[in-house]
Amino acid sequence: MLINKLQNLIKQTGFIPIDQFMQIVLTDHLLGYYTTKSPIGKTGDFTTAPEISQLFGEMLGFYIIHNWQLLGSPSKLNLLEFGPGLGTLMFDILNLIKKIPALFEAIEVNLIEISDSLTKIQQEKLAPFKHKITWHKIFDHQNYKSSTIIIANEFLDALPTKQYKFINNNWHEVYITTINNKFEFILNKEHSIINHLLPDNFIPDNGMIFEYSPNSLNYTKNFAEIISQFGGAAAIIDYGYTNNTFQSTLQAMKDHQKANFLDDFGNNDLTSLVNFPILVNVLKQLNKNLLINLTSQRDFLLSSGIMERLKILLDIAENNEKDAIIKGVNYIINEQDMGCLFKVLTFSCIN
Ligand code: SAH
Repeated sequence: MLINKLQNLIKQTGFIPIDQFMQIVLTDHLLGYYTTKSPIGKTGDFTTAPEISQLFGEMLGFYIIHNWQLLGSPSKLNLLEFGPGLGTLMFDILNLIKKIPALFEAIEVNLIEISDSLTKIQQEKLAPFKHKITWHKIFDHQNYKSSTIIIANEFLDALPTKQYKFINNNWHEVYITTINNKFEFILNKEHSIINHLLPDNFIPDNGMIFEYSPNSLNYTKNFAEIISQFGGAAAIIDYGYTNNTFQSTLQAMKDHQKANFLDDFGNNDLTSLVNFPILVNVLKQLNKNLLINLTSQRDFLLSSGIMERLKILLDIAENNEKDAIIKGVNYIINEQDMGCLFKVLTFSCIN
């Protein structure tokens, strides 16, 4: 059915841009991957850091505590999480934060989740905290008019991306079409003006690929608007790069294995690496006095005190639990595992 829907759309104009294709395949309200599947965890298609170690959520908990204190410990604080998955990250955060009653009292949690089935799972997982939480399918930045802290782990990489290729001195957008009923990438004949999105003084080579997600830019801008107006902080953690290598990063995953991007629609997770430099640029251009930092997940977790917390946890853990705890922490900080592939973009404005 998803194939029919895509084919009909392509029939109308001859092609669709990659971001429109991803939007439909991932989040079509009846047939999309996120709307119909349970993608995360051992039985799903991919696993995320909060599912691997509770210390991931705890370090974000410390980030929230630290910024709440810098804000002057306000008596009301919006805590927003985008794409909460199985609810584990927010569960670990709230378990830590409840040890600080004034902060726990101040917090109003808002979860932005498009999937009904994941919302249900989150509601079960977060049942002990349900009086503090509101769920939203769509983000409306107008709803937040006081100090706000925003968390998003592996949310931006799930948002639709655009792709352009540099050929014969011009950028051409990559589209998707059907040839003999087979889905294929093609280049738009018209060229696209994307110089404003590229690094300053950048001279592209033939064959280079440039990707960016207009949705990610909009979310980032909206986060920055709230934070700069009302005070707050954001931590965006994702699979992405700090230096663009100008190659395609489109990826499909099924059962923890790479799959074909243009196949089995609605059953594979489609992602692209997050273009962090463009997000940093957009934040700088807003000129809002934001404190911006981009680092690896490894450095973020180490400087948040993950090894110190690990030591304490190991002191109180049962002997048969210790190996798994250490393995989990290693996996999220090791360079060859998640530590360097994942980046953490933080920005804050403390009024
Ligand atoms: N943060 C979680 C899950 C990451 S998977 C973790 O770390 O485990 C991506 C999450 O974003 C899923 O919960 C998915 O349903 C949600 N999502 C994807 N696109 C979305 C959209 N456009 N709006 C809101 N949620 C979305």
